[in-house]
Amino acid sequence: MTMQTSITTADNSPIRLVIHGGAGTIKRNKLKMEHERAYMQALAQSLTAGYAVLEAGGSSIDAVTAAIVVMEDSPLFNAGRGSVFSHAGRNELDASIMDGSTRMAGAVAAVTTIRNPIRAAHAVMTKSAHVMLMGHGAEIFAAEQGLEIVDPSYFYTQYRWDQLQKAIAKEQVLRDHDVGPGTPTLSKDEKRGTVGAVALDRYGNLAAGTSTGGLTNKRFGRVGDSPIIGAGTYADNRSVAVSATGTGEIFIRTAAAFNTAAQVRLLHTPIADAADNTLAEIAAIGGDGGLIVLDAQGNYALRFNTGGMYRGTIGSDGIAWAGVFPEPEKPVINSLASSS
Ligand code: ASP
Repeated sequence: MTMQTSITTADNSPIRLVIHGGAGTIKRNKLKMEHERAYMQALAQSLTAGYAVLEAGGSSIDAVTAAIVVMEDSPLFNAGRGSVFSHAGRNELDASIMDGSTRMAGAVAAVTTIRNPIRAAHAVMTKSAHVMLMGHGAEIFAAEQGLEIVDPSYFYTQYRWDQLQKAIAKEQVLRDHDVGPGTPTLSKDEKRGTVGAVALDRYGNLAAGTSTGGLTNKRFGRVGDSPIIGAGTYADNRSVAVSATGTGEIFIRTAAAFNTAAQVRLLHTPIADAADNTLAEIAAIGGDGGLIVLDAQGNYALRFNTGGMYRGTIGSDGIAWAGVFPEPEKPVINSLASSS
C-alpha cells in the first residue's frame, strides 16, 4: 500500500485551517469531472467559512465548527445532510470537537434529528458537565440548547439510499463467505466519507473536530471513531490537533488521534512521521484511512494510505488549496482577501 501525502510546511502563519472530507478508495476513472469540481467547490466553501472566523480574530474552536457545518450541510459528504444509512435504514450521526488550549471536549453519538451534530458536540463541551451524550438524550439536550432539530427525513438522499440497497445485497453474498466480526463487507469507497477540521487561531490555540454518518449498512447502534476523543479527534496545544477518517473500529483500537499527538509531544516526532506511524499501525491490523494534523506553529500534514482523501487547507495568505488524489493540492480560491 503506498503512502500518499502532501506538503508539510512551516510558513510562520499566525492562522491555519486544514480540513478533510473523507478518505477511501476514490478512483480517478470513477470520479466524474463535474463531481470532482463540486467537491473542490464544497471544500473551498468550508475553508472560506472557517477562515473568515480565524481572520476576524475568532477562536480555532469556532473556525472548526464553521468549516464542518458547511460540509454537514452539503449532500456531498458523509456527515449531516449527506450521511449514509445504517442497516436499519436510518441515519445515525456521530461528531466530536476538542479545544487544545483547555483539553475540553464534547461529542454526540448515534443522533438522528440534529441538523448539525458538530454544533451539538460543541454545546456538550461548553454547556454540559459531560464529554459525550448519545441518542435521544443528546437530541433532547441539543433542542434545549436551541440547536436546529430536523425530521429524520432531512438526511434522506437517494444516492445514499441506493448505496444501502447495494450494500445489503453485497453483504448477503459476502455472508456466504465466512465474514468474521470486524471484517469489511463492502468495498471501501462505498463505506467512507466523514468530515473533519483542525485549526490554529491567532492566539496560538489549536482545535479539532470530526463529524460523520459512519458506515453504510452499519449495525443499528454502532458508534465509530469519529465521536471518540483520542480516536477520531484530539487537540492539545502542547502537540497537535488531529482529525481522522478511515476504518473506525481500527482507529479506535489504535487510539489513532491521541497516538499521533502523543508521538509529537513525548517523542518529538515530526508531525507527518507521527501520522505515518499511526497509519502504519492501522494498516498492520487491517485498516486504512487518513489523518490531518496541525501544530501550534502552523506546520501541517495531510496523510492518507488510501486511493484518495478529499482535503484542503488555508493559511494567513488567504489562498485555499484543495485536492482529492495523491498529488499536491491545487489553489481553489485565488483571491480570498486577507487583511492580516
Ligand atoms: N471513521 C468513520 C467511521 O468509522 C468513517 C469514515 O471515516 O469514513 O465511522
